[in-house]
Amino acid sequence: MKHLLVLLCLVFKISFSQTIQLCKLKFDRYLNFNASLNDLVKFDEDAIYLLDKNGSKEFAIYKHELYYIASVLENTNDVFQKNFFLKKGIQKFSNRECDSLHINLNIQKNITINNSLPLKGFRIAIDPGHFGANLKDAKIEFKYIYFIKDSLNINDSVKIFESELNFNTAFILKKMLEQKGASVFLTRNQKNFTSFNCNYTDWIKTNKLRIIDSLKNENLISNDHYFKLKNCDEHDFFYDFFRDFELLHRSQVINEFKPHLSIIIHYNVDEKNDLWLKPSKNNYTMAFIGGAFVADNFDKIENKINFLRLLCTNQLFKSETLAGLTVMNFHKNLKIQIADKNSALYLKDKCLTTNLPGVFSRNLLLCRTVNSPLVYGESLYQDNEFEITELMKSDKEIFGLKTNSRVFLVAKSYFDAISTYLKIK
Ligand SMILES: [Zn+2]
Repeated sequence: MKHLLVLLCLVFKISFSQTIQLCKLKFDRYLNFNASLNDLVKFDEDAIYLLDKNGSKEFAIYKHELYYIASVLENTNDVFQKNFFLKKGIQKFSNRECDSLHINLNIQKNITINNSLPLKGFRIAIDPGHFGANLKDAKIEFKYIYFIKDSLNINDSVKIFESELNFNTAFILKKMLEQKGASVFLTRNQKNFTSFNCNYTDWIKTNKLRIIDSLKNENLISNDHYFKLKNCDEHDFFYDFFRDFELLHRSQVINEFKPHLSIIIHYNVDEKNDLWLKPSKNNYTMAFIGGAFVADNFDKIENKINFLRLLCTNQLFKSETLAGLTVMNFHKNLKIQIADKNSALYLKDKCLTTNLPGVFSRNLLLCRTVNSPLVYGESLYQDNEFEITELMKSDKEIFGLKTNSRVFLVAKSYFDAISTYLKIK
């Protein structure tokens, strides 16, 4: 029985075929932002090393270990990975140790094709970004469009909450995927909810003190930081703590679901339309995947582990394919121009361009921490002069939800991209 397992591992290993050269290609193409990791990652003919700030080898992956370490990083949780990283260091595993490492992993089984329900067996996670679906919460996140009729040459006042657009898109996409048999997980259950399944104000009332108390007791925050957090208002608390804390929770619940792929839904704005007080003439469509690490990211062990996962597994290639299909469908269904690196400053200053139009590697928290192929979609600019009128409409009912044709077309674009992607697989 054990030999059979080893043989199966071997067959699987050949089809997977990670090599040092392939990892170097991913490092150059997606991961190493402006050569900033050159002193921290070293590629030899038969090993990859992570170096500490003094240039000493801290972690090594030898050629024969690549496949096994990729499997560990793809199929275990963050606690296991942290222990594994610290315990392994630069030691070289024997072939036998590699095999036993692999046999103990709970690897996802292949899906059996079902023609009437083609997505049966697939687990898909959807994260509708943000949570502010009223002016108070949306102002804290700064994720809303509010144009007052009298101050501008427009027919009516405009009030758009990104959280609501994201949630409605996720809701429609979930229903579409479920109709084809997929199991779908949403990170939040209502348009005004955080991923803790309550709104921000309620979370503050019920959880703030308990959470910061426990962080202080475990010495994870300093006394000064504790008192600052304890006494600050909801706005400052969001930027100083809650934003990243909640994003990490989103990736945690997504990873617990063990998705085959993840869809992170956002709607963009024109960054050049500063303060968003009037409509913009610009509109571009784009999507992000992981990558674009900088040296500071290596201050944290968690980031090094995420880096290694993206380096050793095929997740970046898969994400690029999924994101490329998503952008093509946005472009086709919504008739919006695809962004290039000159369309916005953050594309030039913070992202690496990939081989596919409109797809950029960007080191966003979710792009880094979600453990599956993913697309972080930015379908359109909400403040565009055409979109504001369309997004304000509520003239279409889909799966019992009142919305408009733009939101429907965004959901359909994700659905079409996912269907094609899973067929290619
Ligand atoms: Zn957003």
